[in-house]
Amino acid sequence: MLRTVVGNFCSRFSRLSYPIQASRFSAAAIPAPNPQQDVQYNKIFINNEWHDAISKKTFPTVNPSTGEVICQVAEGDKADVDKAVKAAQEAFKLGSPWRRMDASDRGVLLNRLADLIERDRTYLATLETLDNGKPYTISYAVDLELVVKCLRYYAGWADKWHGKTIPIDGDYFCYTRHEPVGVCGQIIPWNFPLLMQAWKLGPALATGNVVVMKVAEQTPLTALHVASLIKEAGFPPGVVNIVPGMGPTAGAAIASHMKVDKVAFTGSTEVGHLIQQAAGSSNLKKVTLELGGKSPNIILSDADLDWAVQQSHFALFFNQGQCCCAGSRTYVQESVYSEFLERSVERAKDRIVGNPFDFKTEQGPQVDEEQFKKILGYINTGKKEGAKLLCGGGAAADRGYFIQPTVFGDVKDDMTIAREEIFGPVMQILKFKSIEEVVERANDSKYGLAASIFTTDIDKANYISQALRAGTVWINCYDVFGAQAPFGGYKASGNGRELGEYGLEAYTEIKTVTTKIPQKNS
Ligand code: ADP
Repeated sequence: MLRTVVGNFCSRFSRLSYPIQASRFSAAAIPAPNPQQDVQYNKIFINNEWHDAISKKTFPTVNPSTGEVICQVAEGDKADVDKAVKAAQEAFKLGSPWRRMDASDRGVLLNRLADLIERDRTYLATLETLDNGKPYTISYAVDLELVVKCLRYYAGWADKWHGKTIPIDGDYFCYTRHEPVGVCGQIIPWNFPLLMQAWKLGPALATGNVVVMKVAEQTPLTALHVASLIKEAGFPPGVVNIVPGMGPTAGAAIASHMKVDKVAFTGSTEVGHLIQQAAGSSNLKKVTLELGGKSPNIILSDADLDWAVQQSHFALFFNQGQCCCAGSRTYVQESVYSEFLERSVERAKDRIVGNPFDFKTEQGPQVDEEQFKKILGYINTGKKEGAKLLCGGGAAADRGYFIQPTVFGDVKDDMTIAREEIFGPVMQILKFKSIEEVVERANDSKYGLAASIFTTDIDKANYISQALRAGTVWINCYDVFGAQAPFGGYKASGNGRELGEYGLEAYTEIKTVTTKIPQKNS
């Protein structure tokens, strides 16, 4: 049914899978964006107030569709992180309004925040598209939808995440308390700015923590608008502090801070190493990491080929290919390889690239010039190493950071484009013969974030899914996300899980309390 709804506003979208289809919004219900509207917030948010950087420095944030500067943003660094951590510590003091707040009221505040985000949904979706470049229909119907659902999901957990009573030996009453970890540093990326903010804030605030968040320098604007809503919702000062700034300065200051109790990071595996090292050489703060991937997408010869082609296209090209879990190694069984290749190229050639505010657009620009150049570099490497370029391969416009949907065939496992994360609209298709072979090849990667299997044989699906070393396995679908289901990586794709009940564990200390029970009541 949802597919029909989406098909009404743009037949192209009917080819996409879950995120769009899951939206409860029809075309008519998506309000027109207003890309001309003002940016209201561009400073550092500490103690529910707006601050210039102590250094007075600013940095430009750029519209990737045009390469033009949208506005200047305060550039926080170590000094501002120190100030934010102090505010967070104060908000976390024993007896503070936040510490004394009923758990159910934390849930009320999170729901109120979700209400305010819904109220400002059109503005936020517009700003997200302006700053990030993703199609506005996706910002509105997918990203914002998942943001609101994530916050409401964790609002529900606020007064339900409780300990146990434990029958230890002897005359004792033993129970556990689930307590907040304390000051949580959260460092987020630019590919889903609002959604990554919600994934981080939801579980942290539901469990009573305080937060110092660094947003990505490419996309700081929507998170700062949400900061204003956090204040409006009624969160006490200092509970959430948001510091825009650069990774090696503001980000590194969080990771190595002696008063930050935990750091949650989403981004590249390279920076993940740095975060873990900084935690290890400072105060051994707890670390959760959601990092890169090179996820195998396996098409067996008995798959519904139409569906597999559509889903594999979506698995790679969604969000301009800028997904950590992109299905970026497409393994196709040899008897259907040629047909799959041909149809995938056809679909890629059909993809509509352009102005992200146009409702027909499927693919906007890459987030910035650095990513744009990096992706074009990978395309060149693919050609040099002997992969067969079947379509695309270059820039898609005279200005802005648009790249043509690109498909490589005859890709071999040892090629750079089959091993490294490209993070762009570049598909790699590889041939395989047997299931044993493809399982081994799929697992031969330093990453283990996600994987998928397309088949009509449930036994094969079950066999392969248990054999794959990945945190998420999708069968006959791709990129199906829900706030209820955990997400995270094996191997170099990360530590820990976000979302779902499992996502609460990273934000909780377990305290064991044991009381002597007198055996006689005198
Ligand atoms: P990408 O390569 O996709 O841009 P990064 O891992 O570089 O991803 O960035 C993700 C987040 O990590 C951003 O907020 C960025 O500013 C931050 N970051 C980058 N370098 C560091 C660092 N050395 N320490 C802490 N955070 C960093």
